[in-house]
Amino acid sequence: MPLWYNEEQTEGVSFGIKIKEQILSEESQFQTIDIYDTYEFGKLFTLDGLVMLTEKDEFIYHDMIVHVPMAVNTEIKNVLVIGGGDGGTVRELTRYNSIEKIDMVEIDEMVVRASQKHLPFTASKLTDPRVNLFFEDGIVFVKNAQNSMYDLIIVDSTDPIGPGEGLFTKEFYDQCFRILTSEGILINQHESPFYPQFSKEMKRAHNKIKNIFPISMVYQAHIPTYPSGHWLFGFSSKKFHPLEDLKSPRWEMLKLKTKYYNSDLHLGSFALPTYVKEMLEEE
Ligand code: SAM
Repeated sequence: MPLWYNEEQTEGVSFGIKIKEQILSEESQFQTIDIYDTYEFGKLFTLDGLVMLTEKDEFIYHDMIVHVPMAVNTEIKNVLVIGGGDGGTVRELTRYNSIEKIDMVEIDEMVVRASQKHLPFTASKLTDPRVNLFFEDGIVFVKNAQNSMYDLIIVDSTDPIGPGEGLFTKEFYDQCFRILTSEGILINQHESPFYPQFSKEMKRAHNKIKNIFPISMVYQAHIPTYPSGHWLFGFSSKKFHPLEDLKSPRWEMLKLKTKYYNSDLHLGSFALPTYVKEMLEEE
């Protein structure tokens, strides 16, 4: 009998991936960590039975969460990553020589250790000398951080349930605003617009952020293994507009090879379907 990983992405909709074998199953203080080897998607990493990444399509999420802000402000030096224990976001950030410091705050050390052992394709740069790992709650970390410390904050979190819940609150976004410099950018994963269980959260999060940041826009990517395959990210800034301030020639001069992100796609990713635009306009 072939083995299948099945995830109920929303009520009545199941997404399945045929697996070769289960590599790891661990209970941490916060969540259940599973890693599988699959036929089509390579390694598959889940938390509490929800896909966090697969080896085959993780480049899409990590390209879009990192290169979009980095192409808008190519001078970014100090970065805070909240969550992101698989290391994929840090991997992309370390490709920029201009970045001097990356603080990564992951609540669950077991996620980092499991990724370092089984997911080297994302975790390999967590040992870069510019990276400081903090194993604590991101909500507490931002409360205790000094004003204007970071040029960029990336919230690479789980869904707004369990330990990730507080990362979708007004209090958390207020703290992010405070600890960003006057040129600061906040990127956060905004869930899927397609199924109401996710879009409700996305709308709530977006409404809170747009009341705090002068510039706040949403962009999208196609991620095959995430619910509905259609995923959103939030771009908020004290100064930079993600389209008007895009520095395409300067970013292209860096000659970073990316598999998903490019300057045309950057512009296109902010062009949202009508139903998503309408959703975001609702209070
Ligand atoms: N790309 C994934 C997705 O959207 O499905 C998310 C990556 S996953 C590795 C997110 C990480 O956020 C998890 O390892 C989880 O432990 C961490 N996390 C959740 N809540 C957190 C919190 N309050 N503070 C710090 N890290 C948190």
